[in-house]
Amino acid sequence: MSKRPTLTTTAGNPVADNQNSQTAGPRGPLLLQDYQLIEKLAHQNRERIPERTVHAKGWGAFGTLTITGDISRYTKAKCLQPGAVTDMIARFSTVAGELGAADAERDVRGFALKFYTEEGNWDLVGNNTPVFFVRDPYKFPDFIHTQKRHPKTNLRSMTAAWDFWSLSPESLHQVSILMSDRGLPVSPMHMNGYGSHTYSFISPDNKRYWVKFHFKTQQGHKHLTNREAEGVVGKTRESYQEALFGAIDKGEYPRWTLQVQIMPEEDADKHWYNPFDLTKVWPHGDYPPIEVGVLELNRNPENYFAEIEQVAFSPSNIVPGISWSPDKMLQSRIFSYADAHRYRLGTHYEMLPVNRPRCPVHHYHKDGPMRFFEPLTGNVDAYYEPNSFDGAAEDDRYAEPPLKIDADFADRFNHREGNDDYRQPGDLFRLMTAEQQGRLMDNIAEAMQGVPEEIVKRQIVHFYRADPAYGEGVASRMGVSVSEIAKDAAE
Ligand code: NDP
Repeated sequence: MSKRPTLTTTAGNPVADNQNSQTAGPRGPLLLQDYQLIEKLAHQNRERIPERTVHAKGWGAFGTLTITGDISRYTKAKCLQPGAVTDMIARFSTVAGELGAADAERDVRGFALKFYTEEGNWDLVGNNTPVFFVRDPYKFPDFIHTQKRHPKTNLRSMTAAWDFWSLSPESLHQVSILMSDRGLPVSPMHMNGYGSHTYSFISPDNKRYWVKFHFKTQQGHKHLTNREAEGVVGKTRESYQEALFGAIDKGEYPRWTLQVQIMPEEDADKHWYNPFDLTKVWPHGDYPPIEVGVLELNRNPENYFAEIEQVAFSPSNIVPGISWSPDKMLQSRIFSYADAHRYRLGTHYEMLPVNRPRCPVHHYHKDGPMRFFEPLTGNVDAYYEPNSFDGAAEDDRYAEPPLKIDADFADRFNHREGNDDYRQPGDLFRLMTAEQQGRLMDNIAEAMQGVPEEIVKRQIVHFYRADPAYGEGVASRMGVSVSEIAKDAAE
């Protein structure tokens, strides 16, 4: 006697035969009443959802955040209090490649975290780099177009990439990290994660501090050269999935140390850099990192699609004690991430098991596709607000301190005015060893092959302005006259 469960339709009706379609005779034709066949084919047609426009290829796992330090005077967030342990999920990703792209490609990596706190989900949706290519959201869709496929050739275009970067000097910092060793980590475990944006901490006495989040790998930094990556991709396109899933399966749980940099609110105007500019870091000398806790990944997903393809991160998800900053890129992501999930996953995506908060949820959003969950207002008669039926209501204890804005109103501020786009990329270049600098410039020269000379020269001027040795090194590798570059850089 078989102990297997009986196969059923989606409605639970037992299936008698899953091998032979129903037909009028042995050679056909098919009968329309063969509902099991129709349902099977119909489901297959619906097995895909739109892949993410960016960060399509990803790898993820569940784990915990354990707080070992004490930052309780800066934030009242319960999940950041000493001793707190919070369940979480992480998803890592490449930015440009599609769902089937190879893992070991030179690209920025997404480092997205969702913490299931008792005060709602806190999502920190960052990258493995502390900065980004652009500082104004107007530039984001154009930038992504240069990373995706050319509309006619359907090929990736380094001409488009360098054209955009060379016309957008604010990208130099991120380009320099992308082309350095850290642009091609061996696995998700061997890279840092950064919240990248500046966020707020709200203290128990309702005072605002600015904060940056850093997750430092405890596995050590390990990178592939371009040649090594070719070897990896030739053998497997799934090297990150294999490494992350395999490590957790073996009980080798990857860990990261959580550090924060904290800036008093009034310091925001005191530096040569704008602390809300996503193309800049806060120098550690100005704001030393404070150790806060440990992130550990220790459970593989049971179902990749349900838990990793459908996990939906958004910087709009914050908890009391953590908030946003004026960073324009962050502000635009507050809209665009949740919007992407409504499009990809549907109106009620936050109620999918992987996204569903582990605390009570009360809201008055009503119907729509997949409205499958219980009423959330606290009382069935309270389906609008305000009401007299003890439905969920606001609580002003959660109000944030006002955000200080000290500027004349103007429609637009030129984001390139008064910004030094060269100093920090130069600092980065100068902290590299000679070997690291050499590999950085080799990688750049390799990525510039076939790009029109005018664009190459325009970009080398930026490298030169960051550090003359940086410009000269790339120029000599590209066969470009250094004196011409030096002259242009001085203008
Ligand atoms: P510090 O020397 O105090 O900090 C250097 C930081 O740079 C460390 O976080 C280190 O990360 C990281 N780093 C070291 N080597 C490399 C490398 N080859 N590629 C990328 N990152 C590296 O200097 P500052 O804070 O003054 O920053 C100097 C430059 O370092 C910045 O302009 C920026 O480019 C880069 N940087 C700065 C960060 C910051 O938050 N201040 C963060 C990351 C990079 P790790 O501890 O993991 O080795």
